[in-house]
Amino acid sequence: MSTRRIPLRKCIGCNEMKPKTELIRVIRNAEGNVELDGTGRKNGRGAYLCRDTACLLKAEKNKGLEHSLKMAIPKEVYEALEKELNSLGSEE
Ligand SMILES: [Zn+2]
Repeated sequence: MSTRRIPLRKCIGCNEMKPKTELIRVIRNAEGNVELDGTGRKNGRGAYLCRDTACLLKAEKNKGLEHSLKMAIPKEVYEALEKELNSLGSEE
């Protein structure tokens, strides 16, 4: 019997530590664009967020995403991320 240890990461929205598997990675890619990293393997500066649009809204309000990615994030990006999060939710 082995105990699988899942690393914890902090959600930039609610600031709670959660298993990595429950979070979605948001990265800033080489082109300077912000995107969701469903595989967790893309290169770039990343931040973690619950798979929940409520946390995305919190991250927008507290500027957690901007701080983590060290860039200004326009509203359109949050809107695009929100749509992506919603489509992720409907798949599960
Ligand atoms: Zn959260």
